[in-house]
Order: sequence, then C-alpha cells, then structure tokens
Amino acid sequence: METKKLTNKKLSLQAFSRAAQYAEEYISGVRERRVGPSPSDLDALENLNSTLLCEGVNAQQVISDLHRYASPATVASTGGRFFGLVVGGSTPAAMGASVLNAAWDQVAVLEESAPSAIYLERIAADWLLQLLGLPKKSSVGFTTGSSMANMVCLAAARNYQYAKLDIDLVRTGLAGAPPLRIIVSEESHVTVHKALSILGIGTGQLVKARCDRQGRVRIDCFPKMDESTIVCLQAGNVNSGHFDPFSEIIPKAREAGAWVHIDGAFGLWASASPLKAYLTEGVELADSWAVDGHKWLNTPYDCGVAICKDAEAVYRVMTTQAPYLQEGGGRPPKDMVPEFSRRARGVEVWAAIQEMGTDGVAELIERCCSYARQLAQGLLDMGYELLNEVVLNQVVATIGSEDELHRIVRAVQEGGVCWFGTTVWQGKTALRLSVSSWATNDEDIILSLESIRRATREVLDME
Ligand SMILES: *Cc1c(COP(=O)(O)O)cnc(C)c1O
Repeated sequence: METKKLTNKKLSLQAFSRAAQYAEEYISGVRERRVGPSPSDLDALENLNSTLLCEGVNAQQVISDLHRYASPATVASTGGRFFGLVVGGSTPAAMGASVLNAAWDQVAVLEESAPSAIYLERIAADWLLQLLGLPKKSSVGFTTGSSMANMVCLAAARNYQYAKLDIDLVRTGLAGAPPLRIIVSEESHVTVHKALSILGIGTGQLVKARCDRQGRVRIDCFPKMDESTIVCLQAGNVNSGHFDPFSEIIPKAREAGAWVHIDGAFGLWASASPLKAYLTEGVELADSWAVDGHKWLNTPYDCGVAICKDAEAVYRVMTTQAPYLQEGGGRPPKDMVPEFSRRARGVEVWAAIQEMGTDGVAELIERCCSYARQLAQGLLDMGYELLNEVVLNQVVATIGSEDELHRIVRAVQEGGVCWFGTTVWQGKTALRLSVSSWATNDEDIILSLESIRRATREVLDME
C-alpha cells in the first residue's frame, strides 16, 4: 500500500514537471509560430480521438499526447498578433498564478474551504474598485466572464425593481408578475440579451434606444424611464469601441428611479487610464457593472467580474443557506455569484494587478489604443475606408466588395502572421481588429500591416 502511494506521488510529480516543461516550450515558441493552426495541425487532432478506453494510460502519456497533438492546434492568442474577437493574452504573473491555483485546487465557496484564495479575492476586489473608480462598498463577484457578470447584475436589478412593487421574486417567482420596463441599446451585446432571456425577460419585451453611427445611444430620442425601468448601457461597443453618454443619461435615470446596468466587458478598463478616462465619465453613477478579467486585464481564461453598488441586492438573489455552511465575517463568494463550488478566479486578478500596478495597467490600456491607431492609419494608407472613429482599441475598416473583403481576411488568416475576423458595421461588411494583449509590440504591428497589405494586393490585384 505504502509503495503504491509513493509511486503514485512520483508519477503525479513527473506528469506535472512534464506539463511545466511543455508549457515552457509552448510559451517560448508562441511568438515564432503561425497564429492560426495549419490544416495539418487540425487534422492531427484525430490522434486524440481514441475509442473510449477500458484501462486508462498513465498521466505522463496523457500530458505528452496533449502537447504533441493539441498544442499545435491552438490559436496563438498569448503571442502578440491575435486581433480576433476581443482577446487578451495572459501576463506572466497571472499565468504563473493560474498554475499555482491549479496545484492548490481550492473550492472557493467559503473562507473555511479556501482561506488564502478568498483572502486574495477580497484584496483583488478592493483593487478593482479603486482601478475602475467605482463605489467602495460594492459587491464584487468573480464569474466566468462578462456574460455571467451581466446576468448576476441584471438578476439583482430585476429583483430590486420588483421589490419596489412589493413582489418578492425569490418567494413568488415571476409567474403573474407585471412586466418591468427594460431599455437596451440597439447596439447592446448579444450576451446582454441572453442574460435577460435567462432571467425571464424576452426580446419582445425590450425597448430599444436608438444609436448614432459610432454605436452610442442618442440622448435626443432616449426612451422614457420610470420606477420599474432597467437601463442597459455600454462601455466599449464590441465593434466600434465607443461609449454611451453616461453623464447625460444616468442622472436622469436615477431621478426616474430606474436601475442602470453597464456592460463594460473590456471598455470599462478605460477608467484605469488617465488618458482614456474621459470616455467613461459618469459611469460610476450607475448601479451595476460587468467587466472582464480575461479580455483587457490579460488574466487567463476564464474570468469576469460582477460589480453591484447595492451589495445586499446581489446577496438577496444569490445567497444559499444550509446547516453545514459555517460562515465567517464578510459575505462569501457563494452569495455573490451563481456558482457554489467554484475556482478562485480572483487569484489571477490579484497577480496581474500586483505585477502591473496602477501605472502598468494604465500603460497597457494606452499602448493597445495607440497600436489600434497605428493599425487604422496603416489601413487608411492602403486605401481602406475606416468605419469607426478609433477612440479605443477597436478598428473596423472595409475595402472592395463583400466577397473580396472575405477573401482578404481568409488570405491573412492562412498566411499565419496575424489573425482577425470580419463583422458587419453600419450595414457594411468589414474587418475588425481588436488590440487587447499586453504581448503586442511594435514589431507585431509592422508585421501584421505587411501581411494585410500583401493579402489586399493579392486579392484586389493592385500594384
Ligand atoms: C466579450 C463581451 C461580452 C461577453 O463577455 P464574455 O467574457 O465573453 O462572457 C459582453 N459584452 C461585450 C461588450 C463584450 O465585448
């Protein structure tokens, strides 16, 4: 028995050091390799599709197979030239913290089950509120991303607004309750719609606020708000990177008794930069905010943050009680997010912020914005039409016909130098670049522009 245990321990250490060695190999090669995998890398994934085994293989073999076949078929999003979706890299300390976090394998439900992890999450929460300039006593819940953060905040908003109508949703449920007035922007992110739908608020129930050409809601025709209204505004449109006019709408919303929720997945980070903070002016007057760790703060996947000024409003929706849950001081994570068993995502947030400091975070935001401007200028020089005013890290541009544009983007992706996709903005098919990674440097911008120039010439047959 004793020997078996020892052997197991040794095996697990060997698997771990092998994983560390492969991870190091992967990271050190990530800037040199293709950004998107090649077709043969994708074909090789088949090697991982064995029949379901009766007897498993040893851990080292499992790790070797993963590295051999799965590592090449990743997208190199931790390098500096992945500009698709809105995808951050992973800072060195945050990535390292995530390895330690895996070794600890804490279940971060209560302080008793994960003392250091929850301690770190509390500090990270406090730092986040300072960096983003949000009210001190807000509840901060670490979620899987902004989708879930939107859902947490909107659940609190919904129950709070119903409580004013003397309806306790936790007790009576939605059945028979009169509809609330839900105002979203025409440009609200799809995950806001999903969150509302999960919460029993269908698309047919939504009042849409009209937007201008940059995707900001217009104040001249903003819908009427009342006591039972929830308003969903946006910090950072997923295409244009623009912000709703918070200072003009939120005070009016408050006066009317409406709850204002901000989807600030990546854009809310503008608050952490003295140069960009003008974009989020007035955002601190809202009631709740969703923001990502895994996009612009560059923590590993997955990590989002649900922030709510009235902490009690979140606790009332999320709390669970059972005789076996001994609770220390302060509210435990299980009362701030939907999950019960959960990993302590705040550990990587703590590590990233500790590594960068406030200056480092500001610099990260500003550097990405300045690279976005360089990319936009480069595209203009190639004859592209810029479809957004580049105020943040997002660039939307178009050239040629729809088919030609798709061919250009495909040629860039196949070239492997950089990676981004297409979108439709203001009725036009366009390419969309998002600069969100700490790892992007001057050379990455030059190489990427060269690759776009080559593909554009190839497809448009220009001299
Ligand atoms: C990415 C994004 C979301 C969703 O966030 P996830 O972290 O992917 O769940 C919501 N809103 C906006 C504006 C986004 O960019």
